Amino acid sequence: MEPEIKVKKPVRSKSGVTPLTVVLAPRKCNHGTCIYCPGGDFVPQSYTDKSPAVMRALALNFDVRKQVRSRLDALIKMGHPTEKIELIIIGGTFLQYPLDYQYDYIKGCFDVLNGIDSLTLEEAQKLNETAEHRIVAMCIENRPDNCSVEEIKRMREFGATRVEIGVQILDDEIYKKIARGHKIKDVIEASKRLKDAGFKIGYHIMPGLPYSNVEKDIEKFRLVFENESFRPDQLKIYPCQIVEDSPLAKIYKRINYRTYTDEEIKKVLLEMMKIIPDYCRIMRVMREIPKEKMIGTAGSTSIRKEVEEELRKKHEHVKEIRMREIGFNSLGLKTDTLIKTIEYDSSGGKEFFLEVVNSDDVLFGLLRLRFPSETFIDELAGCALVRELHVYGQALNLGEKGKDSQHTGLGKMLMAEAERIAADAGYKKIAVISGVGVREYYRKLGYELEGNYMVKNLA
Ligand code: SF4
Repeated sequence: MEPEIKVKKPVRSKSGVTPLTVVLAPRKCNHGTCIYCPGGDFVPQSYTDKSPAVMRALALNFDVRKQVRSRLDALIKMGHPTEKIELIIIGGTFLQYPLDYQYDYIKGCFDVLNGIDSLTLEEAQKLNETAEHRIVAMCIENRPDNCSVEEIKRMREFGATRVEIGVQILDDEIYKKIARGHKIKDVIEASKRLKDAGFKIGYHIMPGLPYSNVEKDIEKFRLVFENESFRPDQLKIYPCQIVEDSPLAKIYKRINYRTYTDEEIKKVLLEMMKIIPDYCRIMRVMREIPKEKMIGTAGSTSIRKEVEEELRKKHEHVKEIRMREIGFNSLGLKTDTLIKTIEYDSSGGKEFFLEVVNSDDVLFGLLRLRFPSETFIDELAGCALVRELHVYGQALNLGEKGKDSQHTGLGKMLMAEAERIAADAGYKKIAVISGVGVREYYRKLGYELEGNYMVKNLA
């Protein structure tokens, strides 16, 4: 435990980072089609033509530049802040598209946000560092078997900071039966490489798959955190649904399959919430597939809320990040905060989860520091890694507006503490996986751009 830090209650609970989602052109995944997955021919894989983002992209013929332009205009019109953008790429497996398409796609996003067409991606990123609309974070949805060293380096070159991989259930037999086309070992290797490259990593988990049951789902989920080979930073929990146009829609009767009832989903979720440790956040529960595209019941979208209410009523101490975030806990807030550090083994490395919490365990900010298991990226040689810095109530590039000095202070304080831990352990350098649009913030803290990371000497 560190000395007490005095903080003011934040004025705003939102991070100020606005998500901007772009959709890939339809393309089938290389391995075939996972049993529950729709799309791929005329709409992007894993989506339906009734999903709002897909409908917008369809109308623009999936042209990414037009998509960014039209989303940006819409966000501005709706009054959303657009200085700090989180770019989210959805639909299919981006890393499997032709290389030219991938590079052009990413450059197109930067170009539109910069308002200028650059000659190279690097030039576009340089411009974006100080542009009006900066990409401060970038998320790519991916498969565990598309996380080779080369692919991870490429994602970093694009400016990605977070990778979500489809894990569904840690069971090789089920993987085979549902045509996932990869094994548990791919999840282990992807998790290790992504963490060692400093990425924030999210798992998609799918309870209620064919050939599973409530007990098996809970048992396999336990492994996600008990076994240090996994331990993701975030989760999306999407119970299996039967979606039109998916292989499952054609065979569910033959294999005698039915989706979980609301009660079964609740039971699984309740147990999962109890298992999830302090360092993990549930980003979302239930996929929003339009009702008319589903066969049979599909679980109500209010399940998460109901489960959280039940846990609160029972005074269960839930460690999961989102339930402890200040934005969800602002009534009668105590401001007697301190930095708590949780140390844990993860994919062969050591993680330090630094969190600013008050005596009620309400979370004000967090930082993920990693001593990697190995290094395969030149500029990270000999570096400790900061995989995430997040201060609630303000965004990462906190210093820019200077409105909320207390929160600017928290970010700096967490970084200083991470640097101290790394230096005490003998590290001479520390590197941050920074979104392109946050590089300026780290420069003010003494970091310099080396390759695709912000790096600082600790000696
Ligand atoms: S990997 Fe993802 S997008 Fe591809 S078929 Fe499977 S679920 Fe669908």
